[in-house]
Amino acid sequence: VDRCGSCGAGLSVATTWCPQCFAPAGRAATAIALAPDRPEPAVFGAVGRPPPPAPVTVPTRWRKTPTTFGPVGRSLATVALVVPLALMAVGGIVDPLVWGGLFVWVGVVMPLALRDIWKVGRIPVR
Ligand SMILES: [Zn+2]
Repeated sequence: VDRCGSCGAGLSVATTWCPQCFAPAGRAATAIALAPDRPEPAVFGAVGRPPPPAPVTVPTRWRKTPTTFGPVGRSLATVALVVPLALMAVGGIVDPLVWGGLFVWVGVVMPLALRDIWKVGRIPVR
């Protein structure tokens, strides 16, 4: 007859729990606990607790956020896009090939850049 490791009560062979102190008994319980394919038992409390709520934010295209410029930075970046545009428009009068670069600038560079410059940021609501 096995004895409980916690309280010393006698255990029948079939049982996996001590009937006196409810401690897991003997080899059977150990084998289950050490079986490698079993997931870790969940901690009580961690199961029923809901995740913390996400901070409430509002979208903005003008306010400074951790990932976007504020109004000054966005405006300066937009001006920096228009300056080469003006130079290429004037330069095309001297050499019409420059207008080819202007089409690339207007058709490819500016849409991508403006999309990022004026990207919507999110700021937390106070
Ligand atoms: Zn016991």
